[in-house]
Amino acid sequence: MVDKVHLLPYFFGNITREESEVYLQQGGSGDGLYLLRQSRSFLGGYALSLSYGRQFYHYTIERELNDTYAIAGGKSHRTPIDVINYHSQESDGLICLLKKPFHRPRGTEPKVGPFEDLKEQLIRQYVEQTWNLKGSALDQAIISQRPQLEKLIATTAHEKMPWFHGKIDREDSELRLLNTSRVNGKFLIRQRENSGRNESYALCLLHNNQVMHYRIDKDRAGKLSIPDGKKFDTLWQLVEHYSYKPDGLLRVLTETCPRPSHHSERGATGGIISRLKSYSFPKPGQKKGSAENPYKITPNGKDDYSKQGNFLDSAMPMDTQVYESPYADPDELRSTKVNRSDLTLEDGELGSGNFGTVLRGVYQMKKTQKVVAVKILKNDDDNAAVKDEMLREANVMQQLDNPYIVRMIGICEAENLMLVMELAELGPLHKFLQKNKHITVKNLTELVHQVSMGMKYLEEHNFVHRDLAARNVLLVTQHYAKISDFGLSKALTEDENYYKAKGHGKWPLKWYAPECMNYLKFSSKSDVWSFGVLMWEAFSYGQKPYKGMKGNEVIQMIENGQRMSAPPDCPPEMYDLMKKCWTYKPDERPGFSVVEPRLRHYYYDISQ
Ligand code: AMP
Repeated sequence: MVDKVHLLPYFFGNITREESEVYLQQGGSGDGLYLLRQSRSFLGGYALSLSYGRQFYHYTIERELNDTYAIAGGKSHRTPIDVINYHSQESDGLICLLKKPFHRPRGTEPKVGPFEDLKEQLIRQYVEQTWNLKGSALDQAIISQRPQLEKLIATTAHEKMPWFHGKIDREDSELRLLNTSRVNGKFLIRQRENSGRNESYALCLLHNNQVMHYRIDKDRAGKLSIPDGKKFDTLWQLVEHYSYKPDGLLRVLTETCPRPSHHSERGATGGIISRLKSYSFPKPGQKKGSAENPYKITPNGKDDYSKQGNFLDSAMPMDTQVYESPYADPDELRSTKVNRSDLTLEDGELGSGNFGTVLRGVYQMKKTQKVVAVKILKNDDDNAAVKDEMLREANVMQQLDNPYIVRMIGICEAENLMLVMELAELGPLHKFLQKNKHITVKNLTELVHQVSMGMKYLEEHNFVHRDLAARNVLLVTQHYAKISDFGLSKALTEDENYYKAKGHGKWPLKWYAPECMNYLKFSSKSDVWSFGVLMWEAFSYGQKPYKGMKGNEVIQMIENGQRMSAPPDCPPEMYDLMKKCWTYKPDERPGFSVVEPRLRHYYYDISQ
């Protein structure tokens, strides 16, 4: 959304109400002349400035909880642009119809707010500090969770600001303001000690050698304001507002009263910045179904997570045990051999496949205990070929290390041959979606985007998966998907870009590209075709693709140039991408290096 709004010639970005009026005056202040600007009080919101009878009227377009937009109390629309189109036809509460947009002067870009510049740096620092991530794990976390991280940063960025002094008392704040240069308008914000469950702050402002204290309360909707004042989503927006307009204060804010240096450190690690990363382990022998989710994050008793809603629902991939490899910790020995004595198997199957069953287990590592999934080879009379196959799968998995791919932890040779893997408790994507039809399009997009990130990694490392389908995407949480089942996967050498199969096998035809059937050729491009089918499965909540059709009928349909139609309510942008993945010729089909950013940008767009 942000991108589309930024392209509007009448969008001015982060300008003040007064600046908008100057612009509209320049435009002749005709009735119905309008421009759009970024809201300086509400995150993701906009403001509409309208001229009528030589006066100016300003309306906030708020982003609502379900990601729709409306002028307070008015009709909801899908985008701010729809709000404007609607009010060009219907005044519906506005002083007059929107008649003529006022365009930015030639060569000027929408004005960027101070927070935008800081944001990138804050996000990196936040991820580094909170999850202790570096390098590509850090980059991948930011790419996949940017919308969530931006929101977190926006509401916690004040902790990094020099004017935020944390929990100090009234007397301390006065000492700090009076003990340095006594410039009128010098200010700081402190967190009030007795604020109880609801956070409340105080704005302390120097005026003629006296310190004025204004209480800042948070209302039930989380909006911040001084008594009877304007409401804001964040403290930094409040500070920005009162820095250009007194609006009820004795004077505008002028100079920051800096924190003493030791305090800046406390500020940097306090509050939500120190979001916890602790897990509750399942008790050995816990039954499947009744078992607690091992990724549940437990509060340390200090932070009140109830305020943040159900923490599990909002947990990010980095909050789980399986974001980084267990071997990312240098103190853990990197060995693919798992001792049977370190492995406890639990009752109850997670699932079953060609090889046998998959059980849940606990693996005692050098430093930590990990809940794991254990694929157990059936002890059949003649299983040499199957054993070989399982070892080949283990060999491929061992070479892969990406947050969006199920990692192999090791192999255990005991009463059976066992493949010990990371656990993705919520199981296959298609089954999960069949049972959870309430999952939003945003959530589906987040998950398929993560799959595309894992596939981009495979493409970059010259691996072809050959069995990409929703059944082989496992969920760790509702917001965290991992690619699994590398039974058919192949590593390509540097000089080949496809794998040629020796003959047809027991193949998932409905997921296969035409060149797989016609020439037995498998490449990252044929994985892209399968990814298109996987996207179709996701957006149709786990429906079977080409339902009721036989393999050869599907092949015929594709050869005739027909493709599956869009799932009900599938966003056109996503169906468009599926059709791109189903480009007949592999050379003309996009790779994951193109598919992933397409999904990423669409995801960011709908998450704003
Ligand atoms: P597979 O033999 O790889 O097709 O696995 C069979 C089934 O076991 C899958 O459909 C999942 O339900 C379950 N499963 C496999 N691997 C895992 C895992 N790493 N975590 C949780 N469940 C798994």
